[in-house]
Amino acid sequence: MNPLDALISTEIETTGPITVGRYMQLCLSHPKYGYYTSKQPLGAQGDFTTAPEISQLFGELVGVWLVTVWRALGQPSPFALVELGPGRGTLMADILRAVAVDRAFTDGCKVHLVELSKPLRDLQSKTLQSSSIAPTFHSDIASLPKLPTLFVANEFFDALPTNQWVRTDRGWNARKIGLDADNKLTFGVDPTPLPAPPKLIRENAALGTIVEHSPAQDTIMGMMADRIVRYGGAALITDYGSLSTGFGDTLQAVRMHRPADPLDDPGASDLTTQTDFGHLRSKAIDAGVRTTAWSAQGDFLIAMGLLERAGVLGANAGPEERDAISAAVERLASDAAMGKLFKAMALASKEIHLPGLIVVND
Ligand code: SAH
Repeated sequence: MNPLDALISTEIETTGPITVGRYMQLCLSHPKYGYYTSKQPLGAQGDFTTAPEISQLFGELVGVWLVTVWRALGQPSPFALVELGPGRGTLMADILRAVAVDRAFTDGCKVHLVELSKPLRDLQSKTLQSSSIAPTFHSDIASLPKLPTLFVANEFFDALPTNQWVRTDRGWNARKIGLDADNKLTFGVDPTPLPAPPKLIRENAALGTIVEHSPAQDTIMGMMADRIVRYGGAALITDYGSLSTGFGDTLQAVRMHRPADPLDDPGASDLTTQTDFGHLRSKAIDAGVRTTAWSAQGDFLIAMGLLERAGVLGANAGPEERDAISAAVERLASDAAMGKLFKAMALASKEIHLPGLIVVND
């Protein structure tokens, strides 16, 4: 038995079945055996690939977005450029290369990385060695400096622990993970219903309907939006998920680029749920942000100049490299790949234009 499976089974035997969020937390960030804390999960050799790992185009366009938004905010200086969950550091490296065109931006910019994993922190430092800006690391948002802040987060929210609730004839009951007769991990439903719905959900949902809610996402979004309101700034969040609150079990495990059983070999595969952007937006509005805007990732990247930038890169490349650039554009932006399922959402402290995105008013 793997050591994390043994730890989880002992916890279940001692305190009873655990929530899906607790299971995700142990699998992803257990200090010794967690997926992010003990492995190097990203890239072609790892288990999954993210937009910045597909092509430098992604980070460069995010860099252009950040410079435009910083100017619209009145060029606050100094300011913090914060990335949440930077993975291999590739996105920040590509951003810093793109923003180098604006000397005032780089002069005022303090880079802060929020990352739990020690091996990933080491990798991020290494990736950023070539840029002249040294990052400061944080374990969470609370210790960030009190400065105007630009946040970026790609595939960060989907990795945060999420709970699941099931509609039963008694109300909404927590979906939990317990042990079956053979002592193997199994899904079940807590018999005691919840006193109040976990978030905005229709009471008349059909029996068996599953709804997901992540207290960790709520907390982080609240803290992020609060900083933006207090010190000024903006955020760009890209992730896979939906713009409106939906129903359903979106928990998925990926290992070696293939779907896996989420309960099989805990800590060995990436676990995620789809991000509920509509719900996150409502948390940001509660905290007082002035502008929110969003779009599908493909539309966002194309509006930011994906095709033009790919053309420039392609013009200086050989035939093989040119094919690789076309394939990356296709993967990042086409409806059949990441273009539609992935979304971009932005928040700002002021009423400013957020390039590439459509303002949401309601
Ligand atoms: N943004 C990167 C990596 C995405 S993977 C990319 O697009 O390639 C998720 C990242 O979030 C990893 O770096 C992981 O270690 C980090 N992470 C997960 N949970 C976290 C938490 N609670 N606090 C800080 N970082 C976290």
